[in-house]
Amino acid sequence: MTKLTVDQEKCIGCGACVAIAPKNFDFNEEGYSTVIGEEITDETKEAEEACPVFAIDIEDAENEECDCDECHCDECECDDDECDCDEDEDDEEDIDEEDDDILEEDDN
Ligand code: SF4
Repeated sequence: MTKLTVDQEKCIGCGACVAIAPKNFDFNEEGYSTVIGEEITDETKEAEEACPVFAIDIEDAENEECDCDECHCDECECDDDECDCDEDEDDEEDIDEEDDDILEEDDN
C-alpha cells in the first residue's frame, strides 16, 4: 500500500505538483498543495521530483515492511501472507543439508 503525502510546513504553493499531477494534488484554502487522489502514476513521481522544497513524499509501506523479493533476509518479521522469506530460509537449509550430505559422501 502506498501513501502519498504533502508536508504542509514545507509547501510554498508554487503549483508545480498541481500542474503535473492534477489527479493527485490540488490547492487547499490557504493556497498550499493537498492530496486529493492516492493513485501513484508516472505523473505523481514526476511531481515529487519537481517539488522545489521536497514537500511531497511517496511512501511505499509494503516495501518498507518487507522487500523479500529483493533482500531474502534472515530477519524478516513481516506479517505479509505473500512473504516468501520462510520458504527461502527452508530452501537454503535444504541446500545446506544437501551440501553436507555430498561432503560426507566425498569423505568416504
Ligand atoms: S510542488 Fe511542492 S511546493 Fe509546489 S505546490 Fe506542490 S507541494 Fe507545494
